[in-house]
Amino acid sequence: MRASTYPLVDADEAAALVLEHTAVLGIERRTLDACSGRVLAEDIVGPSALPAFPASAVDGFAVRAADAGGTLRIVGESAAGRPFEGTVEPGTAARILTGGVLPEGADCVVMVEDVRFDGEMVTVPSPLRAGTNFHKVGDDLRAGDRVLSAGTQLGAAEIGLAAAIGRALLPVRRRPRVALMSTGDELVEVGKTPGPGQITDSNRWALFAALEEAGAEVHSLGIAPDDPGLLRRLVVDVLDEADVLVTSGGVSVGTHDLVKPLLESIGTVHVGRVKLKPGKPFTFATLPAGKLAFGLPGFPVSSLVTFEVFVRPALRKLQGFARLQRPTLPVRLAYDARATAERTEYQRVTLRRAGGELVAETTGSQSSSRLMSLAGAHALVRIPAGDEGIKAGTIVEAIILALP
Ligand code: AMP
Ligand code: MG
Repeated sequence: MRASTYPLVDADEAAALVLEHTAVLGIERRTLDACSGRVLAEDIVGPSALPAFPASAVDGFAVRAADAGGTLRIVGESAAGRPFEGTVEPGTAARILTGGVLPEGADCVVMVEDVRFDGEMVTVPSPLRAGTNFHKVGDDLRAGDRVLSAGTQLGAAEIGLAAAIGRALLPVRRRPRVALMSTGDELVEVGKTPGPGQITDSNRWALFAALEEAGAEVHSLGIAPDDPGLLRRLVVDVLDEADVLVTSGGVSVGTHDLVKPLLESIGTVHVGRVKLKPGKPFTFATLPAGKLAFGLPGFPVSSLVTFEVFVRPALRKLQGFARLQRPTLPVRLAYDARATAERTEYQRVTLRRAGGELVAETTGSQSSSRLMSLAGAHALVRIPAGDEGIKAGTIVEAIILALP
């Protein structure tokens, strides 16, 4: 063992450094079926008004409000997609169906429930109000309105809107390509029985899921042994095709910790240790051609917490998200939280609603090897560094993973 030469960087400073070195990825045009979850790269403006014509909101009769109370001659029909070509003159009415164009001359629609009619004549109630029961031109959208803003994540409503204004293709940010590997001589593939002193590689699967869920295209490279030459070859081989390298393990100060020297030899290490618990050995480097490298600690909880604090915001920035962080909310601690003297700590909690607020219960032992503390957790509560700790009942900030 040797003492680390890397300064301990404040957790917020480290997060800011990561983002400082992260640039937004390029733009690609995608058909709407390939846009779900993507981030829009440019503002989208509606080319014309919606609706484009006055469209009936109900089934009934298109009439003039001035003919209220009259018995009117039915002169035609306006169905959705099949407009009535004539004019509704005084004393006449046109049958109209939902989505049909309000004919020339008519200024309101009377619901079929409110009239009496036979084949040729219809008696309408009194009074009638002009402008009722149809959608006017531009009610939903005026020509030139901005309908979607750059930085918006595209979901069902946004994609529907794009289609409604006739956009078959949208400019979206490219997804980050991430090369992922686990390091460690003790690791075996999931499903194989670990031999003496071996453990199953779980981080790669956890991180694979986290990366995909955060919008990355993941290229999973398997397990690298603690061998500097092999590790180097694996990393160099894959870098051409990746924007980001994510490794787990091999960043603490034991003799088998090879990731920092490797990153130093091919790029620049900006963060080598952080005042963060769990996750002190977190490492961040930039590599040639603007690529990013994240050396996540080996302990399973450490790797996922540092993913949330450092990697997710970077992935969001690469994708052009307007908001880089997960949502945070104030929550009330239900337990006395011990603090760590020098390090910001993210403790795993479940949340419950009580009287309009969120109350945080600990998930039990917060050991960085205990994934059970994170499975099913709703949030990471931020416990500032200090000697005092935080008493039950205090409000603290929480990174929300899922709401109860
Ligand atoms: P390291 O950062 O390489 O010193 O790893 C610290 C500890 O994390 C190891 O002793 C293992 O117990 C655990 N660990 C490392 N890599 C993995 C992995 N891929 N999956 C699960 N646990 C791991
Ligand atoms: Mg290791």
